[in-house]
Amino acid sequence: MSKVIKCAEKAVVYAAKGAWVIYERLNRISPNPSFTPKWSDKPLLKSYQKEKPPLGWPRTTDSLCPKCIPEIRKQILDGKLPHEVLLNDKVGEIKAQIIERNGEILMVKDCPRHGHFEDVMSIDTAFFKHLEESFPGRDIRAHNDEKLHHHGTSTVTHGRGSVLTIDLTNRCNMMCDPCFMDANQVGFVHELTWEEIKTMLDNAITVKPKRQMSVQFSGGEPTLSPYFLDAVAYSRKVGYNSVQAASNGIEFAKSKELCRAAAEAGLRYVYLQFDGIGNAANSHRKVGNLFDVKLQAINNLHEAGVEIVPVTTIINGINNEQVGRIIQFGLNNPKKISFLSFQPVSFTGRDEDITDERRLAQRYTLSHMAHDIKKQTGFGEPARDWFPLSFMSTFSDWADLIHGPTAEWGQLSCGCHPKCGIGMAMMIDKETKEAAPVTAFLNMNKVAKDVARVNDAARSK
Ligand code: SF4
Repeated sequence: MSKVIKCAEKAVVYAAKGAWVIYERLNRISPNPSFTPKWSDKPLLKSYQKEKPPLGWPRTTDSLCPKCIPEIRKQILDGKLPHEVLLNDKVGEIKAQIIERNGEILMVKDCPRHGHFEDVMSIDTAFFKHLEESFPGRDIRAHNDEKLHHHGTSTVTHGRGSVLTIDLTNRCNMMCDPCFMDANQVGFVHELTWEEIKTMLDNAITVKPKRQMSVQFSGGEPTLSPYFLDAVAYSRKVGYNSVQAASNGIEFAKSKELCRAAAEAGLRYVYLQFDGIGNAANSHRKVGNLFDVKLQAINNLHEAGVEIVPVTTIINGINNEQVGRIIQFGLNNPKKISFLSFQPVSFTGRDEDITDERRLAQRYTLSHMAHDIKKQTGFGEPARDWFPLSFMSTFSDWADLIHGPTAEWGQLSCGCHPKCGIGMAMMIDKETKEAAPVTAFLNMNKVAKDVARVNDAARSK
């Protein structure tokens, strides 16, 4: 009997493949022009109209001198340089070369004043190439944004960004090292007023393309701001549907009432600082029972209906042996944990002045992470199962077409550089906890190409 079913399955697969070839050929005949949706003054892009930055190696790229930048910042803060230099001059910018050496991809650069710098970008050239080849291209050019996106060389030129991070306060109830914000140690309190928060949210809506994005309240510890709940509620009121808080979880662990109030205000996710499994793995943050606190926060938030995304800053040699255990924790708790987020350390804020030796030893690239996860869990072929976050924009394009020209908002579309962030989708049976990467049984590059063809034809519903 099973032989008969297998034969029938094969026949269906061949028939579907044949039907797709015919459909796709017909679909290519005189495609419809792209429409201009209500949320943009420019039309939707066909896949072949999307711009890409220079990719591949060896190549030259724009970069910054890590020693010039703090010097320039100090001069601006001391009033010796006007801040306009950041808008009008290329201060601190130098050229860098991206090269391959001994099977690794490196960035090497020379500053005329501070000398030579090098850092590793990837320990796996095939992985690096796969990410670049999976990049579908940039979003519609940003427009109606002249007053907001005016940041000199750093100006956003395409799309509208996909995460709006609003630092509500620099106060924090912890004193970590690392802390990329240098929270709690800068010697002054910087906290947004209600008017400032509202203005940021209102202004961000005016940027076109008016796409959905994640509004993330951060800090310091955002729950310490007196406006935290109001800010969440206002974001939902004006139309953002993914509102998050990046939190260490202490306040959520202390109060179920706060969790309930946050859920009622419209908080959808808590990006929970999460360094590893067990109190020892969290002890470098100088709180003895921090892991117990995290578990309490997860339970309280889950009970209130807020989704939890554990976020781990990974530092090579400090906690990279934890990635496997954290993934196992997620797999063991599939009803409470929908996503995990790993953030390779960036040596900014309190860590800006580290020595070259420590930087080289602690640098943790996306390729380190993909390989550690493979080694520690067995999941994820680095050059098969990981994709740039921007890969999803092809599917956003499809949803934009389906929602049509009268939709108020465009779909969230992350058009960021293919090395900016990566993701792997896992399929998990929530009862048996069996799990596998989706791309172990689905050729996503092929699916994305097929969806792009459907988008390019732009047929109506
Ligand atoms: S909890 Fe976050 S913001 Fe607070 S000190 Fe630690 S890293 Fe910085």
